[in-house]
Amino acid sequence: MAKSSKIRTKKNNGNDSDDSMRLVAKKTTTLPISIFGNVLKQVDAAAAKLKLDPTLVEFIKLPRRSTIANLPVRMDDGTYRMFTSYRVQHSIARGPGKGGIRYHPAVTLDEVQALAAWMTWKCAVVNIPFGGAKGGVICDPNKLSVGELERLTRRYASDMMHLFGPNSDVPAPDVGTGPQVMAWIMDTVSMREAHAEPGVVTGKPLVLGGSLGRVEATGRGVTITVREAAKRIGLKLKGATATVEGFGNVGSISAKLLHQMGVIFTHVSDVNGAIHNSKGIDITALLKHMEIKKTVVGFKGAQKVSPDNVLFADVDIVIPAALENRITEENAKNIKCKIIAEGANGPTTPEADAILEKKKVLIIPDILCNAGGVTVSYFEWVQNRIGYFWSEEEVNTRLEEKMDMSFRDVWAMKEQYNTTLRIAAYILSIKRVIEVVSLRGIYS
Ligand code: NAD
Repeated sequence: MAKSSKIRTKKNNGNDSDDSMRLVAKKTTTLPISIFGNVLKQVDAAAAKLKLDPTLVEFIKLPRRSTIANLPVRMDDGTYRMFTSYRVQHSIARGPGKGGIRYHPAVTLDEVQALAAWMTWKCAVVNIPFGGAKGGVICDPNKLSVGELERLTRRYASDMMHLFGPNSDVPAPDVGTGPQVMAWIMDTVSMREAHAEPGVVTGKPLVLGGSLGRVEATGRGVTITVREAAKRIGLKLKGATATVEGFGNVGSISAKLLHQMGVIFTHVSDVNGAIHNSKGIDITALLKHMEIKKTVVGFKGAQKVSPDNVLFADVDIVIPAALENRITEENAKNIKCKIIAEGANGPTTPEADAILEKKKVLIIPDILCNAGGVTVSYFEWVQNRIGYFWSEEEVNTRLEEKMDMSFRDVWAMKEQYNTTLRIAAYILSIKRVIEVVSLRGIYS
């Protein structure tokens, strides 16, 4: 968990005339960094550059609806356990809510609201017809049997059934979930409909209507944005050095593809620890080691080091690909790289952004950098609707076009508004959401 910072809180005094959503000073308490608070700061910074109507900004900032469900699940020993779960639809203005489901012991409503909001802005950056949503269940999937995971997933899908549907809210995998969890959700919803409903989730197994290229899509998108950023600052990728924090779906695929382009990875970490080799870690061999050991620790071609070394190594590119609030006001001064490619959602706080801007570190923001995943999720949803499936080459070519164009669009905003890539990405996406909201009108 990230280091605490001071924020001011207010108890709602029940007076409706003042805006109860606003935080007003009453007492000062030390609380963890609010991840959703970070998103609000990012949106405010971009909206200020656009000089928008404050009411409209308030409308697009807050989640449309948040659902909390406590799920009873029968465990293998016959006892029942309760699991708290969430689904947040941040925006459904541009299309169905779209966003993953996270299974993790530290999931909070604040985190899910932030992740849902980032989905809204991400889908708008790559200009796909989705809003933003996200789900989470407080659980440790590694400590549940397959049967317990299936019962938990089906109970979650049942409780959120009124939200889920190809035209209303389309989940996908996130940390701790994958194709099997999507298959169970698809099946549970299909039972209600009495017919197979593949378009209700993306990131499904191929035989259930998944898309070729989806598993690699986020890492492939990260790689494309790193390539484009490197071009803009005159950094040659062949021989460039890099580190990656988190060696799951996003981190491992990003490292694999960049390694194939000649990038030398000196540090890699996962939740169990970090490894280092100054001459470069053989990523192909590490992926083989991962298949058996399920962790980077113990890999023979590198030494074990402190995980702190990974983000602050003296390399060209750092890829945070684990969780939020990793680069903060306290540690941003230790960053030495030229490019931070945010494979993870929300790894850098707004306070750290300000420090890194002064240090001239180019941050490829999450809502652009890791948008390859939702882009191919969109392709999967389209293929489900038309009932015709594309080749992997076709998927990858379309992804390349989308990511390339989005990078160019965001870079153009950066130059027009003389700002960071993050604020530029928000400016682009806020403009797109506001245009739709203005045309549709606010139904009040
Ligand atoms: P994953 O579960 O496959 O991998 C997460 C990795 O992070 C694991 O290797 C885990 O060991 C590691 N990790 C966790 N805590 C860590 C810590 N403190 N230090 C170092 N490593 C740590 O998850 P994923 O799908 O790769 O997602 C990673 C990030 O990317 C998340 O922020 C997620 O929201 C974001 N993301 C994922 C996708 C996608 O398509 N999977 C798309 C967009 C964004």
